Amino acid sequence: MYFLADDERKQLLRYYLPKARELGVAEELRGWNWHQPPLEPVYGAVLALYEVAGKYCSSGRDVFLRRVHGIKGEPNLAMIQGAVLHEILADLLVTAKRAIYLHGAENYRAICETLEKYTPAVSPQFASLSDAEAADLCRKVEILCSFEKARVLSRLQEMLTRHPYIGEDSLANLTIPVVVEQKLNGAFLGLSGSLSTDAFIFSEPMILDLKFGEPRDFHRLGTTGYALVMEALYEFPVNLGCIVYGEFRGDRLIVKRDIHIISDELRQWFIEERDEKARFVAEEIDPGLAGDCPSTCPFYQVCCAGG
Ligand code: SF4
Repeated sequence: MYFLADDERKQLLRYYLPKARELGVAEELRGWNWHQPPLEPVYGAVLALYEVAGKYCSSGRDVFLRRVHGIKGEPNLAMIQGAVLHEILADLLVTAKRAIYLHGAENYRAICETLEKYTPAVSPQFASLSDAEAADLCRKVEILCSFEKARVLSRLQEMLTRHPYIGEDSLANLTIPVVVEQKLNGAFLGLSGSLSTDAFIFSEPMILDLKFGEPRDFHRLGTTGYALVMEALYEFPVNLGCIVYGEFRGDRLIVKRDIHIISDELRQWFIEERDEKARFVAEEIDPGLAGDCPSTCPFYQVCCAGG
């Protein structure tokens, strides 16, 4: 899911990277300037990155309910499916890396065998699903695993044919050049101390976020937030993000990637969202109903049970 296709790589190198350099980013909006306005957190509230970037509730009442009243909300089907699929993809990639380190390039057949035999553990999240929902999710897990195994195996073969003297560390890095679930401390920007990006490519560098639902404009806020946190922590520019959308159509997995520049506009938008939601929490202000509450919202029973 995280490996770009040839045309996307070409677009990245010929268009997005030069464009990002040409556009530039206002210095005060670089994450390493977290200690001064506008990045400096104004309120004491600490928010998770998904709370700032997730605008599924347009008024932000979900954050108020969770942070001020300690209400957790009921995860909906899409959330459970997304969590399971994310978990399995990360596990599969880590399993492949582990097999490369364990067996080494000389025993590549054993690496292939490990990967071919990989079957994900049954997530406890299945317990909350009906039989039909669980069967549907199992089918999606199978499709995702077979797609990703084929991609990893083909990259492994390619690296082995191109680099006859390759060692296991380089083989692991070239075959799977992403860090999955990279842990980050967002405290400099008023965010949680244990954030986790879906994937990060160091060579570009680019933040990747995986989604299994409909594309929404605010999804780019997530990659923007992680880019700011990376800049604050490591003091190097992160100019690109990519949202990977996976969609199941029958027995096929359709993958679309939204590569984008982490522009000044996105950075400002993220900071405005952070400040507004942190104010609701710090000053305990109820922002009110969203006005377009979907029945699938985790807080629907709390907000709209009487309606
Ligand atoms: S039910 Fe409506 S107001 Fe409440 S959290 Fe969900 S979208 Fe927001």
